[in-house]
Amino acid sequence: MESREKIWREHYQHPTSWEQTFPPMSMGEMVTHSATAHPQAHMIDFMGRKFSYGAMMDDIRRIACGLQAMGVRKGDRVGLYLPNTPHYVAAYYGALLAGAIVVNFSPLYTAAELEHQVEDSGTKILFTLSAKALLPTALKVLDNSSLEKLVVGSIAEVLPTAKSILFRLFKRSETVALPHDPRVIRYDRLIANAGECIVADIDPVNDVALLQYTGGTTGTPKGAMLTHQNLTANARQAQAIDPHAGEGDDRIIAVLPFFHVFANTCTLNRTVMNGGEMVMLPRFEAVQVLSAVQRTKATSLPGVPTMYQALLDHPALPNIDFSSLRTCISGGAPLPMEVKQKFEAVTGARLIEGYGLTETSPIVCANPYEGLNKTGTVGQPVPGTRVKIVSREDPTQPPPEGEPGELMFAGPQIMKGYWNRPDADAQVFMGEFLRTGDVGEVDDDGYVRIVDRLKDMIAVGGFKVFPSQVESVLYHHESVKEALVIGVPDRYRGEQPKAFVTLNEGATIDGPGLKDWLNPQLGKHERVCEVEVRLNLPKTLVGKLSRKELVAEERAKAEQA
Ligand code: AMP
Repeated sequence: MESREKIWREHYQHPTSWEQTFPPMSMGEMVTHSATAHPQAHMIDFMGRKFSYGAMMDDIRRIACGLQAMGVRKGDRVGLYLPNTPHYVAAYYGALLAGAIVVNFSPLYTAAELEHQVEDSGTKILFTLSAKALLPTALKVLDNSSLEKLVVGSIAEVLPTAKSILFRLFKRSETVALPHDPRVIRYDRLIANAGECIVADIDPVNDVALLQYTGGTTGTPKGAMLTHQNLTANARQAQAIDPHAGEGDDRIIAVLPFFHVFANTCTLNRTVMNGGEMVMLPRFEAVQVLSAVQRTKATSLPGVPTMYQALLDHPALPNIDFSSLRTCISGGAPLPMEVKQKFEAVTGARLIEGYGLTETSPIVCANPYEGLNKTGTVGQPVPGTRVKIVSREDPTQPPPEGEPGELMFAGPQIMKGYWNRPDADAQVFMGEFLRTGDVGEVDDDGYVRIVDRLKDMIAVGGFKVFPSQVESVLYHHESVKEALVIGVPDRYRGEQPKAFVTLNEGATIDGPGLKDWLNPQLGKHERVCEVEVRLNLPKTLVGKLSRKELVAEERAKAEQA
């Protein structure tokens, strides 16, 4: 414990020699080493069934071998369209061991989103489950895109008895029969193939492990190329946040979806690296999470602020035994101080706020476990990470004296670049530093405070919504002349989208009518709380629609309320 605190301090003060603290390591090395060191450690699926690391490693090798037999070579893209189940864990590390690049797909994607990402990334093989919520969409994309094969795990195998539990957990997800199609391969057939797996020769610093899609600063989805070293270094950096992690009795509740970079590092890779016990829950339901904490005597629960708020609001909370819980890491959106304080008071655990981006694997800052957690800050840069603040107007210049500026970070967790997007790389990289699109300041103790965002992004809980995407749907309505979407403060989600429109002459539709038309066409987190019809919308001097004034107006309204 002491030594980790020491590493933290030394690297905060002398943060240039990250190669010494985080020697390059591939994901295959990481998982193989951990499974060899902790063969009896295990993971638990949501039916309570245990999988030892030894058995999991066997599946990982079989998947690597099966993929190679299907022709997968180093650098080929293998997609995962899966919730948090043992399939995800085995397919993820198996593909990496085979040298493939994993592409994460949200299980909430529509066919159009899935297809776009398949084409952009050049994904040839996609892992999914025979669930109603997933398989029909994946089959549609198999027919309409350059995707070549689906590997389908049977939900019935994961859930042999419990159709009702399955229905509760996946909602729309009853199991569906697999079509007789040579392009559709059963997961159990793939892993039955036990030939010789050739472990790929990986250069951890240069070889890409993961394509993680993000809107970045513009909203156009693009793949952040995270290398093997980015991911293993960030798992080791995340380790420094929690001095108890790796003590041998870690039990982590894995409810944040693995496809998201925060869970990928903070839950999956970090736990596997430590040989910790991981309890997988495929979707968030407050009561399930609370009972899992008590039942499994969990030590850690990584989450997003809205999740902690939902747990605090749940009526079962006072009856839950939290005595095993030690550390919870919150990220993805600002953690309100009242949520932190209340959660810590109720559970006796530490709730630590971290900050990062998809492009930074993701963690770059965190408040310390011990010592001062400064209100309103995201803590100090994690070991091996350097922060720099530049002028918002001109990133080659420092900000005016005493003013905040755009935050930039350098370190072993910074992505290699965007997949096939050198134009986007040119916008975000300044030497080894990455521009974040977040505006902040650093105090004398090195604590980073985020005060604003340059990018037009709305943080709805941990999910990111880009105004331009909602606006483009609004413009399809015949009555809409102009549209602007902004984030307005929301107690529960931090922010939620609100739309402002002007109408074409003669149009009679009102705000509620437009909202009813708009929301069913949007993803769950994109749905607006209100559509407000106005006679004019604010514009810049050159006549471009401007969100700034509306944001200030809504903030002032919320402060008065
Ligand atoms: P994503 O790449 O989707 O994970 O989004 C990254 C963005 O989320 C950052 O650039 C921030 O704007 C925001 N973010 C993440 N963590 C925090 C936090 N603790 N406080 C405030 N904003 C955050």
